[in-house]
Amino acid sequence: MNPNMPPELSVIVPAFNEAEGIGAFLNQLIGILNGCCGNFEIWVVDDGSQDATWEKLSAEHIPLLRALRFTRNFGKEAAILAGLRHARGRAVIVMDADGQHPPALLPEMLALWRAGSAQIVAAQKITRHSDGWRARFNAYCFNGLMRRLTGLDLSGASDFRLLDRRVVDALLAFPEKVRFFRGMTVWTGFVTAQIGFEVAPRIAGHSQWSTAQLTRLAITAITAYSAKPLGMIFRLGLLGLAAAVLLLLQALYSWLSGIAVSGWTSLTVVILFFGSATLLSLGVLGAYLAQIFEEIKRRPEFLIQESLGAEAVLSPLERSGRDPL
Ligand code: UDP
Ligand code: MG
Repeated sequence: MNPNMPPELSVIVPAFNEAEGIGAFLNQLIGILNGCCGNFEIWVVDDGSQDATWEKLSAEHIPLLRALRFTRNFGKEAAILAGLRHARGRAVIVMDADGQHPPALLPEMLALWRAGSAQIVAAQKITRHSDGWRARFNAYCFNGLMRRLTGLDLSGASDFRLLDRRVVDALLAFPEKVRFFRGMTVWTGFVTAQIGFEVAPRIAGHSQWSTAQLTRLAITAITAYSAKPLGMIFRLGLLGLAAAVLLLLQALYSWLSGIAVSGWTSLTVVILFFGSATLLSLGVLGAYLAQIFEEIKRRPEFLIQESLGAEAVLSPLERSGRDPL
């Protein structure tokens, strides 16, 4: 096998504080890959773990294992992007490091891609029994909002997906800094095949997502894919204007007919309503402004501390010799 030839498959695994389970996961993954793919590489991206994840990876001595270590925690989206930039495979599979995305699905995903009928093979969650009620409720709200505001149906969608090289190249050509992998792949519109899977329990440890992180991701996803909230503010303004005209007419009528001062309650309601509507609208504008701010800063999405098994590729920004700060 020519080492310069791109492998058939690259598997990208973002990992944050997964020291306890990563060894077992990699053994499981390699067992499956050996059976279904003669030519593969694995990229684990350590997203600034504070536990012994990196030490575990260094001690594994797996020939086809490549790993990157971020200088700090940049988030799962950045870890996936780093993996995509480094992967050389003709197909790329992104999957979690905690065993929740079962490696047993890989042969079927590969078979669908090899058959040439799809450029994306998306694993859809059939059940989320292993998730708590809070995670399921969060997912329900998030997917409902996304569907209404962006038209992208992400219910059951996961980051567990196979992408053809053409899809990876398309994603890498996106100039944006703020990324939402799941939404971006759906947005590309490449032919997608879906296969269902049961979300497995974690091999070890617990989910690292905080509610604040999830809320940020939801705001990012919505503001990156839809300008509808801005239109909603406009419509809210129109509604307010109509209500103001009605109140004005009522005030004029009261004044003309000499009715004594009344309407303290309605005044309070109006002030409270428009006060909170204004603040809410400012919040929506702020979310878009923050998004633009993130984009125009043009900072690198991540910084790499060290790598294992292969040279780390510099980001386009670092390559161009610009001062990343
Ligand atoms: N992860 C990451 N960076 C983070 C948080 C999570 O790379 O800041 C990785 C984590 O190690 C796992 C995957 O992303 O491989 C999914 O994370 P997790 O299991 O915490 O989330 P959930 O299963 O609840 O979606
Ligand atoms: Mg998980």
